[in-house]
Amino acid sequence: MADEPMRIEDAVNETCPWSGKPIAADSLTRYAGAVVGFCNPGCRDKFASAIGHFEAALAERRLASSMGGTAE
Ligand SMILES: [Zn+2]
Repeated sequence: MADEPMRIEDAVNETCPWSGKPIAADSLTRYAGAVVGFCNPGCRDKFASAIGHFEAALAERRLASSMGGTAE
C-alpha cells in the first residue's frame, strides 16, 4: 500500500496548509489513509515531523500510564 505511487490528482486538498499555495506533485504524503499535498517538500517534511512528534508523545503517554499503576 505504501508502495503505491501517490498522484497529485488523488490529493484531498488543493492548496498547501502552510502557505496557501497550490500543491506540487513532488510534495505528497499520506495522512489518515488519504493523499495530502504541500507546495514543496519542505512543507511536507514539516508536517511529517509534526505527526512524528505527536506519535512519540502519545507512545510516551501510553507507556507512562501502563507503568503508573492507575490502570486496572
Ligand atoms: Zn507549502
